[in-house]
Amino acid sequence: MLYTDETFIRRTALTTLAIAALLAGFTTLIHYLEPDPYPMNLVIPPLMLLISSFLWGWLYRRPESLQTVMRLGLATIFLGGSALPAWISLGLAIYRPDVTLVDRLPPMSSFPMAIIVVMFIFATPQTIITTAVVVWIVISLPILIYLIAHPTELWSPRGLEMAVTLGPITAIVSTLVPFQRVLQQRLTSLQDERALMQVLSERDSLTHLYNRRAAEELLSICVADADSSDGVILFDIDHFKRINDTYGHQAGDVVLVAVAMRCSQVLRQHDCLARWGGEEFLVVLRHVGAEVIERIAEELRFAIASEEIEPAGSVTASFGVSLVKPTDTIETLLQRVDQAMYAAKTSGRNRVMTDQSLS
Ligand code: GH3
Ligand code: MG
Ligand code: MG
Repeated sequence: MLYTDETFIRRTALTTLAIAALLAGFTTLIHYLEPDPYPMNLVIPPLMLLISSFLWGWLYRRPESLQTVMRLGLATIFLGGSALPAWISLGLAIYRPDVTLVDRLPPMSSFPMAIIVVMFIFATPQTIITTAVVVWIVISLPILIYLIAHPTELWSPRGLEMAVTLGPITAIVSTLVPFQRVLQQRLTSLQDERALMQVLSERDSLTHLYNRRAAEELLSICVADADSSDGVILFDIDHFKRINDTYGHQAGDVVLVAVAMRCSQVLRQHDCLARWGGEEFLVVLRHVGAEVIERIAEELRFAIASEEIEPAGSVTASFGVSLVKPTDTIETLLQRVDQAMYAAKTSGRNRVMTDQSLS
């Protein structure tokens, strides 16, 4: 797909079908008002109107049917709008001496080109090339051969216009296919890059948790919402310096990653667990309330302390918990949770302390 934005593709497809239906409706009206219409013109346009309207309704109700609907839509334009009128007109022009193709053929010489252009929206370059070749062989080539075999018709204004549209103009449009392929590749790599940049900008490279910047963004939303059921947990690994000093900096890193993993498993997918700095972590939880957030902090504490982390052995952390207040700024909220965590440190570590102002 050229665009990964499904909504955009669907809207474009709906617009294309709506225009096709309008065109078919308009053509139907003209032919029914005509004094002496060809029978073919009284059947094909209303049929096209019915099919395009039906496909529009189908796609409108079932967006997931995009590929099927567009295939059917293009098949309809191919068969009803181009191939049938072309073959019927060609047959009549060949077998009836009083009929000429330039007088008889409906104004459809740009339809094969329209099919190719519409395919740029939702098909792969390979499919477009295959379709362009089939459409050209089935519709354009017979008409061009006929015109070459009937020079008087070819050199008429309509004959020349048909020859140019079905020949060189269609060829020019088809040369855009390789260009579209390059564009598609560029777009895909740009999207990949953007996704990577997004991850890099909000994740910590060691633990792959959210980084401080991402956590601050969520904190500012929480503070702005002033919902007192939102809260934060700040925790800091106990005597981490000792781990580094005893086992080396690399072992310290291993402990940080292990702590991050264990805590991630306790939390839900959409909770925000961030590496706030060094060996300090911040959890931002929305719509939880005092009881739940204290329980989660306890679960996190237990997840870290319950099993040893090799090579450091037993690792613990001290936790502070606080809830958002209506008057809070990010600073006041962080100050309270930091004080709670400090209280946990001073009262013996490996414990959860709740912000005093909550009780
Ligand atoms: P406390 O129980 O009071 O928290 O003591 P502590 O030793 O954990 O506290 P302190 O803040 O003195 O030490 C934190 C250490 O964490 C100091 C720093 O070198 C180390 N540190 C910070 N970031 C990293 C890191 O990314 N990897 C490793 N291995 N160590 C880090
Ligand atoms: Mg520490
Ligand atoms: Mg610290």
